[in-house]
Amino acid sequence: MLLQVRDLSKRFGGLDAVKDVSFDVPEGQVTAIIGPNGAGKSTLFNLLAGFYVPTAGTVTFNGKGITGMKPHQTVREGIARTFQTTHLFDGSTVLDNVRAACAVRSRSNAIDAVLRTPRHRRDEKESLEKSMRALEFVGVEHLRAEIATTLPQETQKRISLAIALATEPSLLLLDEPAAGTTDEETEGFGELIREVVAAGITVCLVEHKMSMIMNLADQIVVLDHGQRIAIGTPDQIKNDPLVIEAYLGAGANQAGAAS
Ligand code: ADP
Ligand code: MG
Repeated sequence: MLLQVRDLSKRFGGLDAVKDVSFDVPEGQVTAIIGPNGAGKSTLFNLLAGFYVPTAGTVTFNGKGITGMKPHQTVREGIARTFQTTHLFDGSTVLDNVRAACAVRSRSNAIDAVLRTPRHRRDEKESLEKSMRALEFVGVEHLRAEIATTLPQETQKRISLAIALATEPSLLLLDEPAAGTTDEETEGFGELIREVVAAGITVCLVEHKMSMIMNLADQIVVLDHGQRIAIGTPDQIKNDPLVIEAYLGAGANQAGAAS
Protein backbone atom coordinates (compact mmCIF):
# COMPACT_ATOMS: atom_id res chain seq x y z
CA MET A 1 0.00 0.00 0.00
CA LEU A 2 1.49 3.35 -0.99
CA LEU A 3 -0.47 5.42 1.52
CA GLN A 4 -2.21 4.33 4.71
CA VAL A 5 -4.47 6.76 6.51
CA ARG A 6 -5.63 5.70 9.97
CA ASP A 7 -8.22 7.39 12.19
CA LEU A 8 -7.13 10.78 10.91
CA SER A 9 -8.83 13.74 12.58
CA LYS A 10 -8.59 17.52 12.43
CA ARG A 11 -10.52 19.81 14.73
CA PHE A 12 -10.87 23.54 14.17
CA GLY A 13 -12.19 24.93 17.45
CA GLY A 14 -15.40 22.98 17.98
CA LEU A 15 -15.63 21.72 14.40
CA ASP A 16 -14.56 18.23 13.32
CA ALA A 17 -13.39 19.07 9.78
CA VAL A 18 -11.99 15.51 9.43
CA LYS A 19 -12.99 12.81 11.90
CA ASP A 20 -11.56 9.28 12.29
CA VAL A 21 -10.95 8.85 8.56
CA SER A 22 -9.19 5.65 7.45
CA PHE A 23 -8.42 4.36 3.97
CA ASP A 24 -5.60 2.90 1.87
CA VAL A 25 -4.29 4.21 -1.42
CA PRO A 26 -2.99 1.37 -3.61
CA GLU A 27 0.00 2.18 -5.81
CA GLY A 28 -0.68 2.93 -9.46
CA GLN A 29 -4.38 3.65 -9.02
CA VAL A 30 -6.72 6.62 -8.87
CA THR A 31 -8.43 7.12 -5.53
CA ALA A 32 -11.18 9.74 -5.64
CA ILE A 33 -12.35 11.65 -2.59
CA ILE A 34 -15.88 12.98 -2.97
CA GLY A 35 -18.44 14.64 -0.74
CA PRO A 36 -20.53 17.79 -0.40
CA ASN A 37 -18.98 21.23 0.12
CA GLY A 38 -17.45 21.44 3.57
CA ALA A 39 -17.15 17.64 3.87
CA GLY A 40 -13.44 17.93 4.70
CA LYS A 41 -11.84 16.98 1.37
CA SER A 42 -9.38 19.87 1.15
CA THR A 43 -8.59 19.55 4.85
CA LEU A 44 -7.79 15.88 4.31
CA PHE A 45 -5.34 16.83 1.53
CA ASN A 46 -3.82 19.48 3.79
CA LEU A 47 -3.27 16.81 6.44
CA LEU A 48 -1.68 14.38 3.98
CA ALA A 49 0.65 17.02 2.52
CA GLY A 50 1.64 18.44 5.92
CA PHE A 51 -0.06 21.83 5.66
CA TYR A 52 -2.03 20.97 8.80
CA VAL A 53 -0.95 18.85 11.76
CA PRO A 54 -3.64 16.27 12.57
CA THR A 55 -5.42 16.37 15.92
CA ALA A 56 -5.26 12.56 15.95
CA GLY A 57 -4.46 9.64 13.70
CA THR A 58 -1.55 8.59 11.50
CA VAL A 59 -0.39 8.79 7.91
CA THR A 60 2.04 6.18 6.57
CA PHE A 61 3.66 6.65 3.18
CA ASN A 62 5.85 3.99 1.58
CA GLY A 63 5.90 2.24 4.95
CA LYS A 64 7.23 5.33 6.73
CA GLY A 65 5.33 7.38 9.29
CA ILE A 66 4.90 10.91 7.93
CA THR A 67 2.33 12.20 10.43
CA GLY A 68 3.03 15.82 11.33
CA MET A 69 5.73 16.34 8.68
CA LYS A 70 5.96 19.81 7.13
CA PRO A 71 5.07 20.39 3.46
CA HIS A 72 8.73 20.64 2.33
CA GLN A 73 9.33 17.27 4.01
CA THR A 74 6.35 15.51 2.44
CA VAL A 75 7.49 16.84 -0.95
CA ARG A 76 10.87 15.19 -0.38
CA GLU A 77 9.08 11.97 0.51
CA GLY A 78 7.35 12.15 -2.87
CA ILE A 79 3.95 13.74 -2.21
CA ALA A 80 2.84 16.69 -4.33
CA ARG A 81 -0.46 18.52 -4.38
CA THR A 82 -2.35 21.06 -6.41
CA PHE A 83 -4.71 23.56 -4.82
CA GLN A 84 -8.40 24.10 -5.38
CA THR A 85 -7.72 27.66 -6.50
CA THR A 86 -4.59 28.25 -8.54
CA HIS A 87 -2.07 30.48 -6.84
CA LEU A 88 0.76 31.11 -9.23
CA PHE A 89 3.38 33.77 -8.54
CA ASP A 90 2.20 37.14 -9.82
CA GLY A 91 4.50 38.71 -12.39
CA SER A 92 6.57 35.55 -12.89
CA THR A 93 6.87 33.57 -16.07
CA VAL A 94 5.41 30.11 -16.46
CA LEU A 95 8.89 28.58 -16.40
CA ASP A 96 9.97 30.47 -13.26
CA ASN A 97 6.81 29.33 -11.47
CA VAL A 98 7.72 25.72 -12.14
CA ARG A 99 11.43 26.17 -11.37
CA ALA A 100 10.61 27.64 -7.97
CA ALA A 101 8.84 24.38 -7.12
CA CYS A 102 11.87 22.28 -8.13
CA ALA A 103 14.09 24.25 -5.77
CA VAL A 104 12.12 22.83 -2.82
CA ARG A 105 13.49 19.41 -3.54
CA SER A 106 17.05 20.36 -4.49
CA ARG A 107 19.93 19.62 -2.14
CA SER A 108 21.84 22.88 -2.45
CA ASN A 109 21.21 25.58 0.16
CA ALA A 110 21.35 29.37 0.36
CA ILE A 111 25.14 29.32 0.78
CA ASP A 112 25.50 27.23 -2.37
CA ALA A 113 23.30 29.72 -4.19
CA VAL A 114 25.23 32.78 -3.02
CA LEU A 115 28.62 31.20 -3.80
CA ARG A 116 27.29 29.63 -7.01
CA THR A 117 28.98 26.36 -6.10
CA PRO A 118 29.18 23.51 -8.64
CA ARG A 119 26.45 21.78 -6.66
CA HIS A 120 24.19 24.80 -7.05
CA ARG A 121 24.88 25.07 -10.80
CA ARG A 122 24.18 21.36 -11.22
CA ASP A 123 20.91 21.72 -9.30
CA GLU A 124 19.88 24.71 -11.42
CA LYS A 125 20.48 22.78 -14.63
CA GLU A 126 18.54 19.83 -13.26
CA SER A 127 15.67 22.09 -12.16
CA LEU A 128 15.49 23.63 -15.62
CA GLU A 129 15.35 20.23 -17.29
CA LYS A 130 12.72 18.89 -14.90
CA SER A 131 10.62 22.03 -15.32
CA MET A 132 10.74 21.82 -19.11
CA ARG A 133 9.78 18.15 -19.02
CA ALA A 134 6.83 18.92 -16.74
CA LEU A 135 5.66 21.78 -18.97
CA GLU A 136 5.91 19.55 -22.03
CA PHE A 137 3.95 16.83 -20.25
CA VAL A 138 1.00 19.14 -19.59
CA GLY A 139 1.29 20.68 -23.06
CA VAL A 140 2.16 24.31 -22.24
CA GLU A 141 5.92 24.45 -22.93
CA HIS A 142 5.28 26.96 -25.75
CA LEU A 143 3.95 29.39 -23.10
CA ARG A 144 7.03 29.16 -20.85
CA ALA A 145 7.99 32.84 -21.24
CA GLU A 146 4.48 34.20 -20.65
CA ILE A 147 3.44 35.76 -17.35
CA ALA A 148 1.57 32.88 -15.73
CA THR A 149 -1.25 34.82 -14.05
CA THR A 150 -2.31 36.47 -17.33
CA LEU A 151 -3.14 33.12 -18.95
CA PRO A 152 -6.63 31.52 -19.09
CA GLN A 153 -7.88 29.50 -16.12
CA GLU A 154 -7.47 26.16 -17.90
CA THR A 155 -3.86 26.97 -18.76
CA GLN A 156 -3.17 28.04 -15.18
CA LYS A 157 -4.59 24.72 -13.97
CA ARG A 158 -2.20 22.91 -16.31
CA ILE A 159 0.71 24.97 -15.00
CA SER A 160 -0.29 24.07 -11.43
CA LEU A 161 -0.16 20.44 -12.45
CA ALA A 162 3.29 20.97 -14.00
CA ILE A 163 4.49 22.55 -10.74
CA ALA A 164 3.38 19.47 -8.83
CA LEU A 165 4.91 17.09 -11.40
CA ALA A 166 8.23 18.93 -11.43
CA THR A 167 8.87 17.76 -7.85
CA GLU A 168 8.79 14.18 -9.22
CA PRO A 169 6.12 12.84 -6.87
CA SER A 170 5.10 9.23 -6.48
CA LEU A 171 1.76 10.43 -5.07
CA LEU A 172 -0.12 13.34 -6.60
CA LEU A 173 -3.01 14.98 -4.74
CA LEU A 174 -5.30 16.88 -7.11
CA ASP A 175 -7.84 19.24 -5.51
CA GLU A 176 -10.56 19.96 -8.07
CA PRO A 177 -8.25 20.03 -11.10
CA ALA A 178 -11.14 20.60 -13.51
CA ALA A 179 -13.09 23.20 -11.49
CA GLY A 180 -14.00 26.24 -13.54
CA THR A 181 -13.23 24.61 -16.89
CA THR A 182 -15.60 23.71 -19.73
CA ASP A 183 -16.80 20.15 -20.36
CA GLU A 184 -14.34 19.81 -23.20
CA GLU A 185 -11.47 21.08 -21.07
CA THR A 186 -12.54 18.72 -18.28
CA GLU A 187 -12.18 15.83 -20.69
CA GLY A 188 -8.70 17.10 -21.51
CA PHE A 189 -7.80 17.00 -17.82
CA GLY A 190 -9.20 13.48 -17.60
CA GLU A 191 -6.84 12.46 -20.40
CA LEU A 192 -3.94 14.18 -18.68
CA ILE A 193 -4.63 12.39 -15.40
CA ARG A 194 -4.68 9.09 -17.27
CA GLU A 195 -1.24 9.94 -18.69
CA VAL A 196 0.00 10.81 -15.20
CA VAL A 197 -1.11 7.39 -13.95
CA ALA A 198 0.43 5.70 -16.99
CA ALA A 199 3.71 7.42 -16.09
CA GLY A 200 3.64 5.50 -12.79
CA ILE A 201 2.29 8.21 -10.48
CA THR A 202 -0.45 7.32 -8.01
CA VAL A 203 -3.28 9.85 -7.91
CA CYS A 204 -5.73 11.04 -5.25
CA LEU A 205 -8.41 13.18 -6.81
CA VAL A 206 -10.98 15.54 -5.32
CA GLU A 207 -13.52 16.59 -7.92
CA HIS A 208 -17.19 17.52 -8.13
CA LYS A 209 -17.60 16.55 -11.76
CA MET A 210 -19.06 13.07 -11.34
CA SER A 211 -18.46 12.02 -14.93
CA MET A 212 -14.74 12.54 -14.40
CA ILE A 213 -14.78 10.63 -11.11
CA MET A 214 -16.73 7.70 -12.50
CA ASN A 215 -14.45 7.48 -15.55
CA LEU A 216 -11.13 7.73 -13.72
CA ALA A 217 -11.47 6.33 -10.22
CA ASP A 218 -10.50 2.80 -9.24
CA GLN A 219 -11.64 3.52 -5.69
CA ILE A 220 -13.90 6.20 -4.22
CA VAL A 221 -13.86 7.47 -0.64
CA VAL A 222 -16.99 9.42 0.32
CA LEU A 223 -16.78 12.04 3.08
CA ASP A 224 -19.68 13.78 4.78
CA HIS A 225 -19.30 16.14 7.74
CA GLY A 226 -15.66 15.06 8.03
CA GLN A 227 -16.43 11.37 8.27
CA ARG A 228 -15.96 8.53 5.81
CA ILE A 229 -19.48 7.34 5.01
CA ALA A 230 -18.54 4.96 2.20
CA ILE A 231 -15.61 3.43 0.33
CA GLY A 232 -15.67 1.24 -2.76
CA THR A 233 -15.56 1.00 -6.53
CA PRO A 234 -17.50 3.52 -8.63
CA ASP A 235 -20.28 0.94 -9.09
CA GLN A 236 -20.52 0.23 -5.38
CA ILE A 237 -20.59 3.94 -4.53
CA LYS A 238 -23.19 4.80 -7.14
CA ASN A 239 -25.57 2.26 -5.65
CA ASP A 240 -24.86 2.96 -1.97
CA PRO A 241 -28.07 4.30 -0.35
CA LEU A 242 -26.09 6.30 2.24
CA VAL A 243 -24.13 8.05 -0.51
CA ILE A 244 -27.20 8.76 -2.59
CA GLU A 245 -28.89 10.31 0.42
CA ALA A 246 -25.92 12.38 1.61
CA TYR A 247 -24.39 13.46 -1.62
CA LEU A 248 -25.65 12.28 -4.95
CA GLY A 249 -29.27 13.25 -4.17
CA ALA A 250 -30.39 15.53 -6.99
CA GLY A 251 -27.13 14.82 -8.82
CA ALA A 252 -27.79 11.06 -8.91
CA ASN A 253 -28.94 11.30 -12.51
CA GLN A 254 -25.64 12.84 -13.45
CA ALA A 255 -23.73 10.01 -11.76
CA GLY A 256 -25.96 7.45 -13.43
CA ALA A 257 -25.37 9.04 -16.81
CA ALA A 258 -21.66 8.44 -16.42
CA SER A 259 -22.02 4.67 -16.18
P1 ADP B 1 -14.28 20.61 1.32
O1 ADP B 1 -12.93 20.75 0.66
O2 ADP B 1 -14.78 19.21 1.36
O3 ADP B 1 -15.29 21.53 0.70
P2 ADP B 1 -12.93 21.73 3.62
O4 ADP B 1 -11.92 20.72 3.98
O5 ADP B 1 -12.45 22.93 2.90
O6 ADP B 1 -14.14 21.05 2.84
O7 ADP B 1 -13.64 22.24 4.94
C1 ADP B 1 -14.18 21.34 5.91
C2 ADP B 1 -14.71 22.14 7.07
O8 ADP B 1 -13.61 22.69 7.81
C3 ADP B 1 -15.59 23.31 6.67
O9 ADP B 1 -16.63 23.44 7.61
C4 ADP B 1 -14.63 24.49 6.73
O10 ADP B 1 -15.30 25.67 6.99
C5 ADP B 1 -13.71 24.09 7.87
N1 ADP B 1 -12.35 24.62 7.74
C6 ADP B 1 -11.48 24.35 6.73
N2 ADP B 1 -10.30 24.93 6.92
C7 ADP B 1 -10.42 25.62 8.10
C8 ADP B 1 -9.53 26.45 8.87
N3 ADP B 1 -8.28 26.70 8.46
N4 ADP B 1 -10.01 26.98 10.02
C9 ADP B 1 -11.27 26.72 10.44
N5 ADP B 1 -12.14 25.95 9.78
C10 ADP B 1 -11.74 25.41 8.62
MG1 MG C 1 -12.28 21.81 -0.97
